[in-house]
Amino acid sequence: MKERVPRFAIIGAGMSGIMAAIKLRDAGLTDFTIYEKAERLGGTWRENTYPGIACDVPSHLYSYSFAPNPDWSHHFAGGAEIQAYFEDVAREFEVDHLIRFGDEVMRCEFTAERWQLETRSGRRDEADFVIGATGVLHHPRFPDIAGLDDFEGDLFHSARWNHDVSLDGKRVGVIGTGSSAVQIVSDVIDRVGSLSLFQRTAQWIMHQDNPAYTAEERAQFHQDPEHMSQLRAQISQLFADNFANAIVDADSPQMKLIEELCRNNLETKVVDPALRARLRPDYRAACKRLVVSPDFYEAIQKPNAKLVTESMEGIEPHGIRTKDGQLHELDVLVLATGFRVDRFLRPMEVIGRGGLRLETAWAERPAAYLAVSIPEFPNLFLLNGPNGPVGNFSLIEVAELQFAYIMQLVDLVRSGRHTEVSASTEALKRFDASRVEAAKTTVWTTGCNSWYLDDRGVPAAWPWTFTKFREAMAEPDLEAYDLR
Ligand code: NAP
Repeated sequence: MKERVPRFAIIGAGMSGIMAAIKLRDAGLTDFTIYEKAERLGGTWRENTYPGIACDVPSHLYSYSFAPNPDWSHHFAGGAEIQAYFEDVAREFEVDHLIRFGDEVMRCEFTAERWQLETRSGRRDEADFVIGATGVLHHPRFPDIAGLDDFEGDLFHSARWNHDVSLDGKRVGVIGTGSSAVQIVSDVIDRVGSLSLFQRTAQWIMHQDNPAYTAEERAQFHQDPEHMSQLRAQISQLFADNFANAIVDADSPQMKLIEELCRNNLETKVVDPALRARLRPDYRAACKRLVVSPDFYEAIQKPNAKLVTESMEGIEPHGIRTKDGQLHELDVLVLATGFRVDRFLRPMEVIGRGGLRLETAWAERPAAYLAVSIPEFPNLFLLNGPNGPVGNFSLIEVAELQFAYIMQLVDLVRSGRHTEVSASTEALKRFDASRVEAAKTTVWTTGCNSWYLDDRGVPAAWPWTFTKFREAMAEPDLEAYDLR
């Protein structure tokens, strides 16, 4: 058995791609390139710059375990601060210069035990391993509403914010009531002339204050890093116990408490009973991804705010016409309509063993064993791939656990014991069947539509607790792998 020094291609320089690069280097594996199609790293945080953007995972948890940040300004950091954090970490850990910016990987083909890559610029590369770090909430979903192209004002998706357009004094429309829309509405309400929020489905809103860390607290984080890491562990535990572990058991006491908190929030904050009724969802809290906000209800009750619940007939040059015949005149229209969450590596052309195309393997829907490995696509591993924990967890924690697991698979090749590692078809089948079964008791199947559900209405996300995910990522069960 001959030891090999493998070469890696990391695709994507967002949160998980940066982490992978740092960890590879820590492991003494320095032969890699990070491909990034954009001109800047940061993934989600580079792309989402809408007003009011913040992360609703606590800052100290939404940080790499190896790069704690004593300077987080708030308990829940804003988007620009998070973007700056990733840029700082990439610089400090000296992986920023290893990113090949502005070059999208178009094609990866596995031949002769190696991946052959081709980029948009025509560059060709070869790697022993491909790490797909292409994100989940990445491809904007544009709504299928008649007349979208006829609008004569400014129109953009929340993830493609046009900062050249001033909203001051304007008649602004927002379509959607997810986390993005709610943050946008709260942020812009005091500077727009009027705001019309087009709501197809009401959302439960959990109240969450966002205090600043005081100078004393930050000084303490600096002086006592141990205190900071204890805080991180505490938050992680609280987050898992009170929320992440509970949503997979629709009848858990924590779910009941979340429901009660959301209900109280609505009932006590919204004064007008008619508006309250229109804002009251008819499904259970956390069935859709829970929306967290300190001030959305205040914002939507301001005199210049209008909640539109009449369904849309279509978009016209000067605004949106609702089915009751009313034209809601607008200068700016924001589509806070979410993302296509079934893309993952696509549109990249990925060809595995024996010429198998990812498009064929994923013809029905994307799937990966334990979210990291796809049968017949050896030595290609995914971070935050299909069927992993999303939406209610710190994706940083998820990616770090996945990476440690992946490295154990990489070691099988590095050590010379094997040349090709991928999950077996049977293992994926078993995993898929058990996750579909487990998903039946999650709160996501209690009667709402959401981005968690696949084309069959089955939750695509990890349906077990975070503890179970941690256990699954501790060590690969080699029986589940096709090792050659
Ligand atoms: P989203 O949760 O998918 O919400 C999309 C919204 O657009 C929904 O209200 C949806 O209505 C509406 N919509 C879509 N198509 C429509 C149509 N044709 N007509 C009318 N309404 C339409 O998207 P998002 O708000 O961008 O959030 C996505 C995820 O990103 C979140 O769930 C969260 O995981 C993450 N995120 C997190 C934060 C945070 O940390 N604070 C902030 C932003 C995003 P229906 O409900 O009726 O489908």
